[in-house]
Amino acid sequence: MIQELQLRILPEEAVNEQSLKQVVARETGAQPKDIQAVRVLKRSIDARQRTIYVNVKLRAFINEQPEEPEYQSVEYKDVSGGKQVVVVGAGPGGLFAALRLIELGLRPVIIERGKNVRERKKDIALISREHTVNSESNYSFGEGGAGAYSDGKLYTRSKKRGSVDKILNVFCQHGASTSILADAHPHIGTDKLPRVIENIREQIIRCGGEVHFETRMDALILKENEVIGVETNTGKTFYGPVILATGHSARDVYRYLYQQQIPIEAKGIAVGVRLEHPQELIDQIQYHRREGRGNYLPAAEYSFVTQSNGRGVYSFCMCPGGFVVPAASGPKQVVVNGMSPSNRGSRWANSGMVVEIRPEDYTELMKHEEVTVPADSPLALMAFQERLEEVCWLNGGMKQTAPAQRMNDFVNKKNSFDLPVSSYTPGLLASPLHFWMPEFVTSRLREGFRYFGKTSKGFLTNEALMIGVETRTSSPVRILRDRDTYQHVTIKGLFPCGEGAGYAGGIVSAAIDGERCAEGVATLAT
Ligand code: FAD
Repeated sequence: MIQELQLRILPEEAVNEQSLKQVVARETGAQPKDIQAVRVLKRSIDARQRTIYVNVKLRAFINEQPEEPEYQSVEYKDVSGGKQVVVVGAGPGGLFAALRLIELGLRPVIIERGKNVRERKKDIALISREHTVNSESNYSFGEGGAGAYSDGKLYTRSKKRGSVDKILNVFCQHGASTSILADAHPHIGTDKLPRVIENIREQIIRCGGEVHFETRMDALILKENEVIGVETNTGKTFYGPVILATGHSARDVYRYLYQQQIPIEAKGIAVGVRLEHPQELIDQIQYHRREGRGNYLPAAEYSFVTQSNGRGVYSFCMCPGGFVVPAASGPKQVVVNGMSPSNRGSRWANSGMVVEIRPEDYTELMKHEEVTVPADSPLALMAFQERLEEVCWLNGGMKQTAPAQRMNDFVNKKNSFDLPVSSYTPGLLASPLHFWMPEFVTSRLREGFRYFGKTSKGFLTNEALMIGVETRTSSPVRILRDRDTYQHVTIKGLFPCGEGAGYAGGIVSAAIDGERCAEGVATLAT
C-alpha cells in the first residue's frame, strides 16, 4: 500500500528515514517493520512560534517497495548530425540551453572564456592567497559561470512551477541530492556544485555537443542583419545561430554590443554591502530561543525588506553557515558575494544588504565623481558599478582586502577601531563605509538597518560586520529581445539569454531562460 500523509512534526522526528518511519507507524498504525520506505515530497520549517515544527508531506510504502524513480529523467539523444547552435557562456543559462537543444535535436557548441570547473578552483584560491584576480578565471568566469562557486540556493520567485520542477529534476539527474525536490528552500552547496556541472558537461559531449574552454567570444559574425557565428580570441570561428549567455560580469560584451549599435538599454540594479553576523545569533533570533538551533534544526535563514525614501532596501542571497567571498572579475575591483557548503556549517551567516537603484538615479549617485559616461547611455549604471568597485578597492588598500565596518558604528556614523573575526579570507581593513559609499545608498541602508533591528531584536548589533561592496546583484544592462521568439529585436540569429541579458536573476531562473532560448532557436530552425 502507498499512503500519502501531510504532517506537522517535531524537528527530531524529521532527521532521517528511520525517524520518519516511526512517525508513519504512529500515524497509520502500521508496524515499523512493514514500512519499506518513506519519501519526503515537501518539507518546510515553521518557526513562527516558540515550539518549532517541520511541515512534511510524505509518501509511505507499506508492505511494498517503491518502484517509481526518485526523480524524472530526460532522455538525451545523439545529436552529432544535428544543426549546430553556438552557445556563448557555460553558466546555468548556457548549460541548460545546451541540454535543451539536445532534447530538441540540435547540436550545441559551447564556448567559454574561463577554465573547466576544477582548474578554475586554483585561480579562485589565488584571489585570497595572493590577491591576484585572473580576468578570465574567477568567481564569475569559467565552467558553471557565477553559478559554480556560488551558494547553490535553488529557490526562485518564478511562478512557473513546471519549469522550476524540470530544472530541479535535471540537477538530480546530474548528481544533485533529491532533497532539492522536497525542500521549500532547496540548496546544493558550493562543495557539491562542481561535480554536478562536470556531469552536465559530460552529458553534452556524450550526445555529440562540444565544449571549448579558454575560448572567448570577441565578435559576432554578422551577415547583413543576421548573426551567423562568432569570432574568438583563439582565432577559431564557430558558425550557427548564437545563444548569448555571458552573464552580468562580461562588461566587454556590453561594450562590444554598444559599439556595434546593437540595441541594449540600462536596467535597474541594487547595490550595498555583505552583512555578516555570527550564525549563533541569527539562530537565536530566528528560532526565538537562547539555545539557538539545537541539534536538529538547520542554520537559520532570514529575509528582510523595507522601503526607504522611494527605494527598496532588502537582504539578498542570504547564506546561512556560509562565507563571504572575493568576487571581483578584473583589476582594480573589490566586490563581495556569499556562498555556503552543503552542510551550512560555518560560524557565520551573511547576506547582501542592498538598495534598489534605477537608471534615473545615476546623476545623483555620481555627483562627486568625474562622469565619463552620460546619464542617458545604456552603459551608465555599469559605469557606476565599476566606479564603486574601484573606490572600494582604493579603500581596501588596493588589494583584495575588503573595507569593513561594524553595523552599529555604520548606523551611528562612527569609525570602527577593531573588527570581529570574519569568514572573508583575503582579510579586512576597518573603513568608514558611511563616509565614502554614496549617500544615496548609505542613508537608505541606515534606515533599513534601524527598521530591521526593530522588527528582529538583536539584528542591529556591533557584532555584525558590513563588508564592501556588493554590486553584482543583477545585470545593469538589458539586451533587447522579442517576447515570443527570444530573438534579438533587430538582429536575427542572436538569442540574448540569462542574467547577463537581463532576463534572469539566479541559477534556476537563468536555467529556465536557457531552456526558453533553446526553444526559440529550435522554432526558427524548423
Ligand atoms: P553566468 O553564470 O554569469 O555565466 C556566464 C558565463 O559566460 C561565464 O561562465 C563566463 O565566463 C562566460 N562568458 C562571459 N563572457 C564570455 C565571452 N565573451 N566568451 C565566452 N564566454 C563568456 N544564484 C542563485 O540562484 N542561488 C545562489 O545561491 C547564488 N549564489 C551566488 C553566489 C556567488 C558567489 C555568486 C557570484 C553568484 C551567486 N548566484 C546565486 C547568482 C547566480 O550564480 C547567477 O544568477 C547565475 O549564475 C547566472 O547564470 P547565467 O548563465 O545567466 O550567467
